[in-house]
This record gives sequence, C-alpha cells and structure tokens, in this order.
Amino acid sequence: MTEADTPLVEVALAVPLFQTFRYAIDPAIPVAPVVGSRVIVPFRNRKEVGICLGSATSDGLRQTPKRILEVPDAHPALNDRMLELCRWIAEYYIVPLGIALRTALPAAMTGAEHSQPARKTRRIVRLRQDLPTLTHRDRAFARAPQQRLVFEMLESLGGTSTLDHLLQKLAFSPSVLKGLERRGLVEIDAEEVDRDPFAQRTSRSAAALDPTAAQQQAIATLKAGAAGDVFLLHGITGSGKTLVYIELLREIVDRRGQTGIVLVPEIALTPQTVDRFRAVFGDRIAVLHSALSEGERYDAWRALSRGEKRIAVGARSAIFAPLENLGAIIVDEEHESSYKQGETPRYHAREVAIVRARAEGAVVVLGSATPSLESWTNAGSGKYTLISLPERVGGGTLPRIDVVDLRHRDVQRPDTSSGPGTGYSAVIREELDAALANTLQRGEQSILLLNRRGYSAFVQCGDCGDVVVCPNCSITLTHHRSPERLLCHYCAHQEPLRVTCARCGGKTLRHRGLGTQQVERLLKDRFASARIARMDVDTTSGKWAHAEILDRVAAGEVDMLLGTQMIAKGLDFPNVTLVGVVDADVGINLPDFRASERCFQLLSQVAGRAGRGPKGGRVLIQTRVPSHHAVRCAVTHDYATFVKDELEGRVKPAYPPNLRLANIVFSGTSDRATSQLAITGANWIRELLETQTAGEITLVGPAPCAIERVKTRWRWHFVLKSSNPSAMTRVSRYFMEKFPVPPALRVTLDRDPVTLL
Ligand SMILES: [Zn+2]
Ligand SMILES: [Zn+2]
Repeated sequence: MTEADTPLVEVALAVPLFQTFRYAIDPAIPVAPVVGSRVIVPFRNRKEVGICLGSATSDGLRQTPKRILEVPDAHPALNDRMLELCRWIAEYYIVPLGIALRTALPAAMTGAEHSQPARKTRRIVRLRQDLPTLTHRDRAFARAPQQRLVFEMLESLGGTSTLDHLLQKLAFSPSVLKGLERRGLVEIDAEEVDRDPFAQRTSRSAAALDPTAAQQQAIATLKAGAAGDVFLLHGITGSGKTLVYIELLREIVDRRGQTGIVLVPEIALTPQTVDRFRAVFGDRIAVLHSALSEGERYDAWRALSRGEKRIAVGARSAIFAPLENLGAIIVDEEHESSYKQGETPRYHAREVAIVRARAEGAVVVLGSATPSLESWTNAGSGKYTLISLPERVGGGTLPRIDVVDLRHRDVQRPDTSSGPGTGYSAVIREELDAALANTLQRGEQSILLLNRRGYSAFVQCGDCGDVVVCPNCSITLTHHRSPERLLCHYCAHQEPLRVTCARCGGKTLRHRGLGTQQVERLLKDRFASARIARMDVDTTSGKWAHAEILDRVAAGEVDMLLGTQMIAKGLDFPNVTLVGVVDADVGINLPDFRASERCFQLLSQVAGRAGRGPKGGRVLIQTRVPSHHAVRCAVTHDYATFVKDELEGRVKPAYPPNLRLANIVFSGTSDRATSQLAITGANWIRELLETQTAGEITLVGPAPCAIERVKTRWRWHFVLKSSNPSAMTRVSRYFMEKFPVPPALRVTLDRDPVTLL
C-alpha cells in the first residue's frame, strides 16, 4: 500500500481549537479504529488520546498525515448516541468537539500516559485437594496444626475465599499458607477486583414504606410516561420524593429490563439518599462521583458499559454513564447550581439529561422542593408535566419558621466604622441564643447555617434594611474602598457611597459575611459543654469527610452542626429540632440576578432539616429584610408566591427565564491588560451585533467581575442577552473562534450561566 492511498480517519482531540484532525491508519496495528474508538495519536511532539469520528478524505491536505500510534480498545469507547450528545454539547456550549468528548469519558481513558489504568487485584485462596477421612487429615497435619485450621476454615467457606476474608476469620502467619501451597493443598491466585468505595459503607436495610396516595399517583404518572417526556416532581421537603424515584426505577430496571441514571447534587453531601438506593438495588448500582480515584471511576464505567451494573448514581458527570437501553433519568434537587460545570465545557447536567433522554427514549424526572424558575416556567407552559407532592409523609408537618429582626439593634454595637459587630451577641441574637441553649439542654440537636462568606461588601440601612441596587441591572451595588464608591458588577454603573439611607434617612452600614471559623469560636466560648461540628470547604477536604461529619451527627455525637450551604441538602436527622440562619441578607445581597432565588431555595432547604422526627422542630432566620419575598415566602413555605414575585422582578431588566444569557469572562495576571481586552472585546462584539443581528442580542458591560480576582488572575466580563438561541449560538461561536486573544490572557464563554459572580 502506498502512502497516498493509506486510509484516513477524522479524529477529535481535546485541544482548544475549533477543528478536527486527520490521521492515517497504520496497517500494522491489529485493531482498526471505528467510529467512537479511542486512538492515540502524535500531536505537536506529544501523544494525545483522540476519538475517531469516521473515515476522511485527503482533500486539501497540505502535509502527509501522521499515523495513528495505537488503538487501545477492542470496542469503541463511545457509541453513536453518545457521540451525538457530545456534538450537541459542543455546538450549544461553544466548545471544540474533542473537549466535549473528553468530558463524557472517565479521566483514566483520556490521559495519554495511562491508556490502560492499572487495575487493583486481590488474592484468592482455593482448595486443590480433598482430604476425605480423618486419618488422612491427622496424617497430613500431624506436625502442622495451624495449617489444618486454615485448611478446614477454607473448607467451611466452600473451598474458596479471598485472603483478606480468611485473615479476618483466622489469624495466621504467611508461612502457614505458603506451607499449604507448597504441599499442593491450596493454590493462590491474583484476581482483578473492581474498587467500590461505597462497599465500605454499611447500607441500611430498605425500610418498606407504603406509598401515600400522592406518592402512588406520582408513581403511576411516571410509569405511564412516554419516551422523552420530562416530569417536574415538585415535592415539599420530607414529602418522600426518593420513594417515588425508587419505585420508578423498580419498574424500569426490574420489570422492563432497562437501565437508569440518578443524578444528585453531590454524593458526599447526600450519603443518606445514596444509602437508600443501595439498600433496594444493592450491587446493581454503580456510584460515580468526583472524589473517586481515576481507577475507581474507570471500574464503575466498565461495569456500566458491560451491563453488569444497571443504575448509575452520581453527581453531574454521571449523566455520561455508558448505559444501554436507558429507561429513566432522575435529576434530584434539579435547582442545584452544582449541576452546571464550572469549567469548559460549561454544560448543565439537567439540560444534557433532557437531550440524552429524548435521543434514547427515556423519561426524565426533575425533582425539587424549590424548582428552578426555568423548570417551573417550562411546566407552566406545558413543556414539562408537573407532579406535586404537597404533604410530608407520615403526617409530618413543616416546621414553624420565625424571623429574628436584626434592624435597629445594630446601633448598639461599640464599633460603627467598619461594619456590624462581630461579638457573640451581635452575631447570635437573644432569641436564637435562647433556642440554642434550650435545644442543648433537652439533648436535641441544632443546625446553624452561615451563608457563603460574602464575596463583596454591600451597604445596608440599619433602620429599614434597604440596600442600594443598580438602576440599570437591579442587582446589589458593591462597596469598594479605593476610591470609595458603590459599583455595579454587571454594567459598571458607579455612585458615591451613601452614609444615610435614601429611603428612611437611617444610618447605613457596610456588611460582609462572617467566616464559619469565627462563628464556631464564638459558639465554643458561649457553649463550652456543647459538641460542635463545623462543615465547610476547610473541614471537608478529605474524601469522605462529609459523610464522616454527617455520620457523627446521625449517631448523636454532635450537638450543634455549623456550616455553609452544604449542610442544607438532603439531611434527615429526627433529633435535629432547631435550625438557625445566622444572616440571610448575605445571600440575598450577592451581586447576582439569582441571589434571591438561591436564598429562597437555601432557606427552604435548610428549614426542611428541622422537625423531621416526632419531636417537631423550629427554624429561626436572622435578617434585616423580613419583608423581602425570599424571606417572607420561605417563612410561610409559599413557593408559588415566591416564584410569582421573583418572575415579575426579572422582566425589566430582563433575566432568565425571560431570556437567555451568555457570560463572557476575560482573565489575566495584569489588571490593566485584562480590562483593556474586555473593552476591546465588547467593542468588537458591539460592531458585530450592529451589522449581523437585527437587535436580537444586547450587550451589558464590560465591568469587573464581582469576584474580581481568582488565583492571581484579574477578571472582567460582559453579558449577552437574547431570546433567540440560534442567534446567540451564531454570535457566540463567531466571537470565540475569531476574536484575537493575546497568549497571556484568557477568554471563556459561559452559556446559560447559573451565576454572574
Ligand atoms: Zn433605611
Ligand atoms: Zn448595572
């Protein structure tokens, strides 16, 4: 065969270039690549793992194509449907196809260094000979009583055992086993094992619960769903959504022989939910999750693709589980922002779930007590089918929620120059303090939520709670010190600092969230005898740290659990009878258009942690804005009113779901160069918009990002708004492909961002 007629294939590589590449098939390689095969190819003096997209022609090739170095697998890594799904991600989220494809595979399969991840093995001990009579035995083990013990133990275990298990049953030295092996009585083999970190967790037995009438209705509706149907399961906290998911999966997996995917916001935060699935489906479940090692992930991926596991449970990326014959995708807590990937490709797992389900004929269940405004609007328009679980199971009631009004009392602090006081009595007010003391005295547990530390300081009136917002963007203005001013991080609007409130003339104060560590120290000083646990990014860096802290709470070893929003998720502890929110305003006043929505969700979620047992429960929310709809509606458990008010606030200026956004972020180590590039980029796109689109897209900014600096890089951004998704795709793609970016700077595009911080 001559070089000229060597067959060529088209290959997608995970490199930041909007193109694919052509390579020649090496006839010496035993496996020919097919569509979806992994191929290892030379690229710019290094090896890259690519995905074969099919045969290619040599038309227009200027150089002799390089040859494929290796085809590591006998079977394609991705089937046609997964390739299609990745093409959709690449197109919609404006990323090179190779980068979308890399996301769909476990990391162990996409690093060129380890195309075959090392596999863990365990040692298996097997009997090789029978010693049927006692005489045989007595003679064989006359001088080796230890060997006899091991031999007979192995017999009692059916003739085969792992070495680990044998050692658990019986303590013996390695020489004992070696002796048996030497005499041909046993053999020892190495066997590949699939690592399953969840195997160490004891899963509780499946509590056989009878579904309520509402649950039964929900289950029946889901079972009758047609291929591609999307259901929004709106169930208040404690209404038994998990039972509904489990019953649907029983139908899909057990009766119809299909497979299912369950997405949870983060497995480490929801061990209880995962335990319930495991209790029912046992080892038919593969638990995928970001804290797994590459090898563990790869094992799970293989087990799913071979059909050994039928259900994938995992965070965001489990949506790419290689399951065939998919019957259902469940997205639990569908409103959670963790479903959006924070790096390229910035896909939203909920949207990918819907696209995948439609292509594969599965149904989608989006579950939440506080659905995202997007999903709620889609249910309202008939795009999704709404199913409601309006009551708690077992006759439980939602906890009583009270507001602790922080206004007026700020002035009692000694220091008024820099912000609210940070002493205990300024942070935990009388009502909350008394409730904490009582709960401790009764031997019950408390959860204290501290909103994520404010990224930026805001200025709030101590008398009426009013906060200054941007006249153009309706988001909180951020207080900057040098020069002292209030700044909008969307449109760059500026105004001088106000020391008195424009509404009531009261004195304004600068606020910024407190750190969890600081509050932990205050609590320890106040409640010396209490066992206090803190859960935030600092205390949960270990792989199973979340689960360990939560297990301690479940075991009653913690009196007060203090934490950031990570404590608000699916916890179910009957002895938690008090939930306190230290300062709701920090969340409400984040300079982000979703701040109120996220705060309402958080307050509703965390309130749902209280009173899940027969003792009931109580929630206290500290705030200076008790009449804000996020607080007011959380207090009355009124999701419908919240959504109505919030949607009205997103009309003028318009925000999602009334239109769609793309956030374009510029970053670099030089503040000046970064801002310059953002300004140039904005002008570039403004010209494009004038000539290319008929006013279908508007541009807001550029402005410094609310989080102005991340890891030494300065950040600027502008935002595109449009009601026309295809115009948005066209303009975004043109910009990302053509706008020149100097090497020291970076531009990223985030389509349908969940936050603009
Ligand atoms: Zn005021
Ligand atoms: Zn603005």
